[in-house]
Amino acid sequence: MNRAAHDFRELYGYGPEGVWAAPGRVNLIGEHTDYNDGFALPFALPQRTEVAAARRTDGTLRLHSADVPSGPVTLDLSALDPAHPPQGADGWAAYPAGVAWALLDAGLPVSGADLHVRSDVPTGAGLSSSAALEVATTLALTDLYGLPLTRPELAALARRAENAYVGVPCGVMDQMASACATDGHALHLDTRSLDQRHIPFDCAAAGLRLLVIDTRVKHDLADGAYARRRASCHEAAAALGLPALRDLPYDGLEQALARLDDPVRRRRVRHVVTENERVVRIEELLRAGRLRETGPLLSEGHASLRDDYEVSCPELDLAVATADAAGAYGSRMTGGGFGGSALSLIDADAEPEVVRAVTRAFREAGHPPPRITPAAPSGGAARLV
Ligand code: ADP
Ligand code: MG
Repeated sequence: MNRAAHDFRELYGYGPEGVWAAPGRVNLIGEHTDYNDGFALPFALPQRTEVAAARRTDGTLRLHSADVPSGPVTLDLSALDPAHPPQGADGWAAYPAGVAWALLDAGLPVSGADLHVRSDVPTGAGLSSSAALEVATTLALTDLYGLPLTRPELAALARRAENAYVGVPCGVMDQMASACATDGHALHLDTRSLDQRHIPFDCAAAGLRLLVIDTRVKHDLADGAYARRRASCHEAAAALGLPALRDLPYDGLEQALARLDDPVRRRRVRHVVTENERVVRIEELLRAGRLRETGPLLSEGHASLRDDYEVSCPELDLAVATADAAGAYGSRMTGGGFGGSALSLIDADAEPEVVRAVTRAFREAGHPPPRITPAAPSGGAARLV
């Protein structure tokens, strides 16, 4: 029997109606572009969050996670209010409670549910365990209640839960990747139109491997820095008379930079515009089957995030530099930055050497040991049982 279903039965004393799962994600390229209406190219991880669920008719939501040591949280659906979260609907429970609130707020009828969550997506590692939890919960509730949402609509609703209920101002990339990705593909996302294309990305067939290097650090400046980067981009777009930095073409970059006085703002703009261009180029290389040639663009993307966008940190820089020196085709920090994970594209048989080198470098620098795992592009959210 599925473990989440089994544990649901133990916990609630009856069996769930189904089990739904949604993956964490890694962004191959296109970082800090989603709030600039730009492009991103994430793929889904094999690690996923499962939600075993059953409907209720009494307006009650009961939430439990195998990953949080406490009993179920019981909430009254009618009391869910982002401005005044009821007791218990903060902390981790805010994510699934936020989904229920977002469904109700969109006028979709949900009369209650019992949920049990279990996950092997590391939390806080920049691999979007939050989106995995939101998307798995949204899929569970929309399936149970027969609500006709497309996958992009589902992702938008899951994002709304995180933005408006949890209070994290994330873009839509994470939820789109978790909801829409397909096995063996990266997901090309236009974050303005929400158009998506599935780009073949079969590393194993090309003798390649992707390593996720979780630095296991998170620096406190992340939240404030994220808000400042966002504001800086929106101000720069306004100064240039553009709806968003996405509207600044790569070959107009130098001209636009000459019109901006502030050197910090110039660097932010240069990152966003060159990063969008890297998404375009990497998509072309993947389509042409020239996977190895994406490596230098990944490392260039890292340098841009480190130097122009200033969202890296010593642990991420060390992971990237060491992996590249140990023979990787290219590496970069992935996710928002200031900790979390790096991604490295290597020959499959170079894995032991790269793992050894990065582990040794972290030890010598006095950093906590990184958690290094291979990551094959995997499928998006689905019903399991
Ligand atoms: P990331 O999305 O990079 O993993 P976030 O800080 O955005 O990091 O989200 C992590 C938070 O999401 C956790 O602190 C917890 O509140 C919630 N969460 C994610 N997965 C689970 C889970 N399996 N059980 C309970 N809470 C979870
Ligand atoms: Mg998150």
